[in-house]
Amino acid sequence: MTRTVVRGARWPADVAIRDGWIEAVGAIPPEDGDIVVDAAGGIVTAGLVNTHHHLYQWLTRGRAVGSDLFGWLTELYPVWAHLDAEDVHAAALVGLGELAVSGCTTAADHHYVVPGGDDAVFDALADAATQVGIRLHLARGSMDLGESDGGLPPDHLVEDRDTILISTAAVADRWHDGELIVVTVAPCSPFSVTPELMTESAEFARSRGLRLHTHLAETIEEQYDCIDRFGCRPVEYADELGWIDGDVWLAHGIHLDDGEVARLGAAGTGVAHCPSSNARLGAGACRVTDLVAAGAPVGLGVDGPASNEVGGLFAELRQALYTARQRTGRAADMLPPEALRLATEGGADCLGRPDLGRLTPGHRADLAIWPAADLDDIADPVDALVLGPVRRARTVLVGGVTVVEDGRLTGLDLEAAHRELARRARRLWPDGGEPPTTTPTTPTAADPAELAGTTGKDA
Ligand SMILES: [Zn+2]
Repeated sequence: MTRTVVRGARWPADVAIRDGWIEAVGAIPPEDGDIVVDAAGGIVTAGLVNTHHHLYQWLTRGRAVGSDLFGWLTELYPVWAHLDAEDVHAAALVGLGELAVSGCTTAADHHYVVPGGDDAVFDALADAATQVGIRLHLARGSMDLGESDGGLPPDHLVEDRDTILISTAAVADRWHDGELIVVTVAPCSPFSVTPELMTESAEFARSRGLRLHTHLAETIEEQYDCIDRFGCRPVEYADELGWIDGDVWLAHGIHLDDGEVARLGAAGTGVAHCPSSNARLGAGACRVTDLVAAGAPVGLGVDGPASNEVGGLFAELRQALYTARQRTGRAADMLPPEALRLATEGGADCLGRPDLGRLTPGHRADLAIWPAADLDDIADPVDALVLGPVRRARTVLVGGVTVVEDGRLTGLDLEAAHRELARRARRLWPDGGEPPTTTPTTPTAADPAELAGTTGKDA
């Protein structure tokens, strides 16, 4: 099979790719028939791995901007109840497109809103991932604890347990291929799910070799609620239900004591660290360096765009570094290579994907090539990438296949997808969303000048 060679990068070196896998990294002598991907002056990294997202939330960005988690959810649940599979598809196209141009090659999407019990929303997500061309860890989320039973979500937004488990099996049958689309079993959170659903979900996942994902220890209110209802802290609760193990990764994991950090580390339970969303909701700061030291896999997550309007993963590298340092008051607590490691191999480890997240031979050829002409004055390329301006990838490969070229998606017109998303989002506004009367003149998120980095097109 023909070889592809990524050539000319400033860092780390040339990369040879064959059959979708990295064959070599270093000085690669040319061979007849090589397909060359130009990385002149750029920085090459493994593709970023997003360990926690809610793509549908693209439809409800910019709401409840002064609320903490429970207030924010209470304002948003009734709006989410109006979404259908076509809305979710429109949101997923934008969301996965924005992730891809931010250098993300694998995204975990935790989808727990299934209005009317129509699980075609999961087909919509998988279909969008196929069109954009990035890997999707499709977490079939669920809620079965409504308001009248002491849960937070309104009753009309929850499903019953049998329906959830039957649908989860069907979604796995329809989509799980273990490589490009990986189905995960993902009850939503302790305040929206019964212990019975947690237990049965874990049994089902383990019977099928699927991984488990849920929100845990995100806010102090969640901790109080857990103690109130179950008489124990969230990690203890999850542990009793079989949810602290090596096939589980948790979103957030903020309010952990020393014993809980050690427990997660010993079990190999992963944590999806979402520093921007946590800051937006005032939730607190994850003990990332402690968790890593304890042996827990830790990756980065965008979380839903309704609590992180950026929607792309690149900005989380610097945010993770800042958060780690601000939490402890020690600048040496996280250095740029560690932030990059979290965003790549740490994320792959959370998702149980040893084939991903590493720019070394024998791993899948998931790569991001970053424009870097504006960073040539900074001696260390990784310091430059993590500490420098937020940027979009010039080229992104998934399994050696080009999904972003010259800053543009190969499989999707992202500007058109944004227009369709805005049309659908506006109809959910309280006033029915009159469309704007003038065409915006400021650059859109999909503007080519912006795609090449905040400082303009790379040379
Ligand atoms: Zn979340």
